[in-house]
Formats: sequence, C-alpha cells, structure tokens
Amino acid sequence: MLITLTADANISEIRARLQGLGLWTQTFHGEHSGRPALVVEGFSKKISPESLREIAGVADVFVLDSQHPRVDEKAGRPAIVATARTTATTVDFSGDRPILMAGPCSVESEEQIFAAAEIVARAGGRMLRGGAFKPRTSPYSFHGRGEPALGWLRDAADAHGLGVVTEVMSEANVEAVAQRADLLQIGSRNMQNFALLRAVGKAGKPVLLKRGMAATLDDWLMAAEHCLAAGASAVVFCERGIRGFDTPTRNLLDLATVALLRHVYRQPVVVDPSHAVGRRDLILPLSRAAIAAGANGLLIEMHPTSTHAQSDGAQAISPAELDALANELAFTAPTVHAPQP
Ligand code: PEP
Ligand code: MN
Repeated sequence: MLITLTADANISEIRARLQGLGLWTQTFHGEHSGRPALVVEGFSKKISPESLREIAGVADVFVLDSQHPRVDEKAGRPAIVATARTTATTVDFSGDRPILMAGPCSVESEEQIFAAAEIVARAGGRMLRGGAFKPRTSPYSFHGRGEPALGWLRDAADAHGLGVVTEVMSEANVEAVAQRADLLQIGSRNMQNFALLRAVGKAGKPVLLKRGMAATLDDWLMAAEHCLAAGASAVVFCERGIRGFDTPTRNLLDLATVALLRHVYRQPVVVDPSHAVGRRDLILPLSRAAIAAGANGLLIEMHPTSTHAQSDGAQAISPAELDALANELAFTAPTVHAPQP
C-alpha cells in the first residue's frame, strides 16, 4: 500500500501511529500525486485502506498491484486436498489442526510402503509420502522405482485411509503422478523449473511446493503464482531448509518465514524437518518448533527399518519415534477408517 499525506502532516507522528496499528513504513522517494507519501512494508499487518483514510494527515491510500494476485486471493481460504479414495475423507491445510504427512524417503518395495502406511495411519497421519522418482545429487545413487512405485504407494495409502503426496520430477511424469497422488510435490531443486510448474499446475490438483534451497520468499511466492496461474487448485508451501553455512545441521530451517506465511500472508505452510536438518535426533525438537511457529503440518521421513533405507537413512525416524512425536503434538486421525474391500 502507498499512503499519501497532506502537506501539513506530521510524518513522524503518523508513522508512529501506523506502527501502532502494525504497519511498518518507508518514506516514498519523490512525491505521489504531488504529496509526500509512505510505502507500507510487505511484512506489515493487512489493514483495510478505508480505516487508514480516517487518520488525520492521511490524504489517500492506494493498494499497489501485487506480483502474485492468485496467491493473495487464496489468503485465509481453505486449502483442501482430497484424500483416501476408499473413504473420501478430505484434508484441509488451512485449518487449526496441523496435518501429519509421513513415510519413507523412497518407495523401495510394495512390502516396505504397505508397512509404512500402516505405521503412519496408526500414528494419526493423514497422508503417506514416498518418492517414486528421486532427485539425487550423485548419478550413481538410487533414483527410485519409478511408475510401479506410484501404484504401490496409492494402494498402500488406500488400504489405510491415507492420502498420497509424492514428487513430480519431470514433465514426462506429470500425468502418471497426477493419476495416483492427491498432492503433487515439487522438489526443492525444481522450484524454479517453470515449465514443470506449469505442467503440474495444468493437472488442476493441489501442489506441495518445496522451497528452493537458495530461494527468497519472493521467488517462492512467484513459483506458487506459476502453479496457480496454470490451474493448480491450491498451493501448500513447504519449508525444508535453505543453504546455511553449518554442516552438522545441513540446512537452515527458516521458521521466521513459516510464521510470516501463516500469520501474516495467511497461506497454508508445512515444514519438512527431515530434509532441513538431515539427522533423526533433531526431528522432534524441530517439529515442536515448527508447530509453535504456525506450521499447518509436517512432512516427515519415517522408515519401517531405517538401517536398510536406500536413501536418506540418517534422517529417517523409526515407527516408535513417529508414534511419540505424533502423540506429543496431538496428531490424531479424525476417524478410524476401515479399509474397503
Ligand atoms: C523429498 O521430499 O523427497 C525431497 C527430495 O526433498 P527436497 O526436494 O526438499 O530435497
Ligand atoms: Mn529424502
């Protein structure tokens, strides 16, 4: 917003008054409509322009064009992800109750993902995660089981009343993933792969948009705008840590931005502590912190037998640790779903 002032306005008094209302301002360089003016900082509270026009010394208030109108339009609205085809339950990432999504880094076998689904459902999770197509730093690492894994993931989720979240790695996979997943994940490495964002958006489903590891908040919001402009029904932001400089904690989990997205921008936002910190002993404290900061949910790597994990074993928590975490943070499934024949 831009606030123009009358010629006799006491600028510092007005700024202090606006600050009291939660609006932080910068002086506008030059004049607007021949008047001195203030620009409201993006992290300020949202306030109606009408209420500001009443303040003595304020001449007019202009709402500036947003770079991401579709994201703004979603503020405070439900972010619904339909899940569990067998039970037709839905998950809303904008509600007061945080949503637990958990499962292994990679779908390794049918047995492994069925075992994981049972554990996740028992802990009160609502969505099953697991990569069928894995982005790996080394070309020699395990890259996932591909399309067959999508089918196992869907069946395992359906057998336990869960939804499916899984990564789309390339435009060539969009259709196959969209047929089986409820929430299409864009990985950190692809956050600015605009062709992929548009292809995924065109599927018309909700998108889990992971933050690029060197992406600013504005880059992230613009990536969400690409998905929504192409047709995505919702975008759930996922903070998974950005590049820092300390190796023992791998990435820097930016909880300030989580709080900003939830409380100021009113966007659905979840936290992935697993990829942020890269070690299982810190998943519980970071999960507590994420929920306290306002996260609408958590995306957690859990492996039924993590010593055998083919990717990210060091960060995978055990079934018992997932239970303990879910109990402490009061993740409870709303109803107990019996699998359909
Ligand atoms: C993942 O969630 O499986 C993953 C690869 O995460 P990221 O894109 O955050 O590295
Ligand atoms: Mn992983």
